[in-house]
Amino acid sequence: MQPKLIVHGGAWNIPEEYVADHISGVRRAVELVFPQLDSGLSALAAVEAAVNILEEDPTFDAGRGAFLNEKGEIELDALIMDGRTLGFGAVAALQNILHPVSVARKVMEQTEHCLLVGKGALEFAKKMGFTELPPEALLTERELAFFQTIKNDATFRTHQPFDAFPMDTVGAVAMDCNGNFAAATSTGGTARKLAGRVGDSPIAGAGGYADNELGAVSATGWGERIMQVLLSKTVCDLFARQEAMMAAQAGIGILAKKVNGLGGVIGIDKNGRYGLAHNTPKMAYAYVEKKGVTAGIQA
Ligand code: ASP
Repeated sequence: MQPKLIVHGGAWNIPEEYVADHISGVRRAVELVFPQLDSGLSALAAVEAAVNILEEDPTFDAGRGAFLNEKGEIELDALIMDGRTLGFGAVAALQNILHPVSVARKVMEQTEHCLLVGKGALEFAKKMGFTELPPEALLTERELAFFQTIKNDATFRTHQPFDAFPMDTVGAVAMDCNGNFAAATSTGGTARKLAGRVGDSPIAGAGGYADNELGAVSATGWGERIMQVLLSKTVCDLFARQEAMMAAQAGIGILAKKVNGLGGVIGIDKNGRYGLAHNTPKMAYAYVEKKGVTAGIQA
């Protein structure tokens, strides 16, 4: 089977000065990972590898470069899901780890559980051999400066949807040579969120979903609203009767109509077609077709 790979780098109002970095960041992730997928890498390993690249990239709100919470700390959430088994692993409010999505995979493969949070997640990560980094290792000057400007701003809301600041959760969806699907999502959440706040990203069905009988999806956007409509599962269910692009648009329509939500989704339906849709001003994405990589900011 011809494998497929699509990634996103958040769906918000990406300011002009960050557009080039967003496009090159998502392009790089698919360019590095797709050749491996084409040579037989599993969908699960491919989404993890693509998200790892985006977590390392300080452009995005995941891993290095994540938003700070109300206390000026970084708390990371991530999910990975295997469409063969509906197995998933997730972490939430995890601190000082560069690759939360890889810890999520260990949760799925090495524990009897699906979701670990906070201190327990960090202890588990260390036990699995991940390095606990000093907090500064994930912090960028951009986010520190942004935090200083909003810290005491009584008018700031963590979900100001059309504000000029990027919300750059990352995600990847893949179908491999064997027709298996996987999805992964990783985020620093929203700016100045309450400590301990967890959004949609690590919640299976909300921030991502994968089911070999349907396809797979990763979501981004206003997490509290996305959770209400289990956006990723909703779009996967629509794949059963609509092609991917239509289903993605319909899913975003449901998000907007039912809960006044804002966000974006990427996905691959069971026939290997790509879908992407958003109702935010912009979304960063990249995918691979026979003719090569398409990367851009969809407005
Ligand atoms: N969905 C993420 C959250 O609410 C944010 C984002 O996608 O940018 O935590």
